[in-house]
Amino acid sequence: MLKTLSKIGLIVAALAVGTAWLVILRLKDVPAPLLTAYGLLLVGSVVGSLWPGVLGRLSTRRRVLVFLGVPAGLGTLGLYLAVVYYVTDLPALLALAAAACLAWAAAALLRGRRAAGGRGGRPSRRAFLLGGGGLVLGVLSVLSVSPVERQRREVLARGEQERQAAVRAPGARRRIVDGAVRVFPIHTGDTIVTYGQFYGGLNGWEGLNGYLRTLVDKAQIAVPVYAYLIDHPRHGLMLVDTGVNWEQAHDHDGYYNHNQMVSRLLTQRDEYRMTPEQDLRVQLARLGYDANDITTVFLTHVHDDHAGGLRYLPQATVVMDRRDWDHGAVYPYSFDLVKDNLLFPAFASGAFDAFPDSQDHFGDGSLILLPTPGHSPGHMCVLLRMDAGSMLFTGDTLYTLPHLATGQVRQMTIGGADTIHQMEAARRIQHLLASDPGTVPLFAHDNTRYQSDLVAAAFDQGVLGKEGLRELRAHMEAVLTPDWRLRPGHTPRYVAPASGTGLGRVEFR
Ligand SMILES: [Zn+2]
Repeated sequence: MLKTLSKIGLIVAALAVGTAWLVILRLKDVPAPLLTAYGLLLVGSVVGSLWPGVLGRLSTRRRVLVFLGVPAGLGTLGLYLAVVYYVTDLPALLALAAAACLAWAAAALLRGRRAAGGRGGRPSRRAFLLGGGGLVLGVLSVLSVSPVERQRREVLARGEQERQAAVRAPGARRRIVDGAVRVFPIHTGDTIVTYGQFYGGLNGWEGLNGYLRTLVDKAQIAVPVYAYLIDHPRHGLMLVDTGVNWEQAHDHDGYYNHNQMVSRLLTQRDEYRMTPEQDLRVQLARLGYDANDITTVFLTHVHDDHAGGLRYLPQATVVMDRRDWDHGAVYPYSFDLVKDNLLFPAFASGAFDAFPDSQDHFGDGSLILLPTPGHSPGHMCVLLRMDAGSMLFTGDTLYTLPHLATGQVRQMTIGGADTIHQMEAARRIQHLLASDPGTVPLFAHDNTRYQSDLVAAAFDQGVLGKEGLRELRAHMEAVLTPDWRLRPGHTPRYVAPASGTGLGRVEFR
């Protein structure tokens, strides 16, 4: 009776482990054949174990190993092969397999010796085969290093060629030096996000639940990633954020493989896309600038779609909130070349509008840093002030213009204090925009007409004139009521792709 019960318990546990893995594999888009093979193996092993006598021959330890270890192990392997594996892992994987074989062979050898009473004796066939296999795998591991590297280098070289061609394409400008402050929006490609994470924060996209939903929800959209170039007659060339870099978009797994394989489980394979013309270096060159001349980068926060371009700016001073750096959510490879150039503002310039703390960065009131934690622990916004009008770079405190309607549109936040801080920050921005009609917000991911038509037109020559300012403010008022609600025709809605797969889009109604 007890035996039957323990048998049933084991089989139920095996099925539970297997089913849990099936669900995870399905959510991670593991291809159907691999999924089917895993399911068949699982059912096969349970059915096989019911064969008379099969279970009886195994010790309890082995039974647990077979029933729980095998489905979990196979699931992990399947997930790795389908989702995480990248060609640059090959040498490491072969080396691991070689080490395992050699260790096993050594164990077999030792056991043989002990059995022979400590005298030498001949190694067993098993030890011999395992040792030989381990050596072969070790050699393959060493041999695989150079072709794997060559393949990556080819990808990177192709990118360089495309970049050169894009820089030389007609339409490039010459830098104009006439004492005016110039600002150029730089669209560095797109990032693919879950619609709910981006626009649906009021509908259950908060806290852990929201985070889990970003892993499983298939309603995805592509949104632009913007950095902003500031050409200032007194303070030189500066960037607010740096966007995505070319490697992130074209060699995503290779780029993140510099860190660890596990991070690839959490990131999407193709989370960024970028044409050669969208490369930060290409755009700077076509505007008549050189990436090497950028002296300062104001990083609104550490997230990788804002920090990727730091790879091209090793000479720049990077101004960012210390809390973001200390919090450790930094992807090290993106910061590798600038980690000794960081400057943490003290936020010691007192209150500014509705913000209790601020930092007058140059001490002349021309550029104010405003702490807006929430989206990240050390998020900050940047306010560029000029006689003609001011610009507020919102970073990810507000993704788009409709996000100013905080009661109707909200991005996902992890919850708790983050959400409270983010809402506080958003209300302070609302207050600032209301109290100074000469200020326009510039967003990092706006996918509405505000960015694509009006901001693009207003900053075509880089100078925000009276007319441009008036048009941007008029559009803001056409979209939002004075108490920060969306007017009819501007509420975002997800539209699924026609084919059932691929990216959806956003409609405003
Ligand atoms: Zn972002």
